Amino acid sequence: MSTQVFDRVYVSDIEIVALTRHGGHSMAPYDSLNLANYVGDDAVSVAANQANVAALVGASGIAVMNSDHGRTVHVVDTYGTAASGDGLVTRTTDLALLALAADCVPFALADPINRVIAVGHAGWRGVLANVMEATIQTFVSEGGQLEHTQAVIGPAICARCYEVPAERVDMFRQNQTAAVSDLTHLNLTAGVHSELNRAVSQVHVFAGCTQEDSNLFSYRRSAGSPTGRGGLVITLPSS
Ligand SMILES: [Zn+2]
Repeated sequence: MSTQVFDRVYVSDIEIVALTRHGGHSMAPYDSLNLANYVGDDAVSVAANQANVAALVGASGIAVMNSDHGRTVHVVDTYGTAASGDGLVTRTTDLALLALAADCVPFALADPINRVIAVGHAGWRGVLANVMEATIQTFVSEGGQLEHTQAVIGPAICARCYEVPAERVDMFRQNQTAAVSDLTHLNLTAGVHSELNRAVSQVHVFAGCTQEDSNLFSYRRSAGSPTGRGGLVITLPSS
């Protein structure tokens, strides 16, 4: 079975793809398209999965980051694992950028005029820290113009499934109110959407809940057992 796409969108000639968990090389419980090399999976399988995803989007290599649930953003120009952070920005063509997630919110930015792309990863800590804003700032400093920029939000855990302690919701009432769903539920996608929508010209959302859709990896559904990470990938084509 080949690499299976969950959803895709084009911003001009720039393709953004969300992946399912199907069509990879990893064995259970990482079956099968696990793209993270920090969850206990076999490194050879993960490398093969990442290579297949790069090929899927026509890239010659793939850059990925190990999340630290903050607002650190790196500018990259080569493949491999970047330093810890939650955002990647590049102007390099044929280099895929990969945001890993399994309930957290992966997002991407594309400016097809100025030829700059980015990915980001926002869990609840990242939404609170506003990694969206930090990614946009670096994207602009690399030449992205927000009036030409569109954003894509990948599948994440929905508000109905994302029950959290009331104290955590209170933290969001201060500065990320868009992510507040009710007294004990957060809508992380809405929080990311609100921030991106304020900045860029259009935001596409890939509908779907990682916990409810068994075609996607979900940290919560795995209930403490190891599981894989899916992803959102974007590449700047050279043409
Ligand atoms: Zn859900």
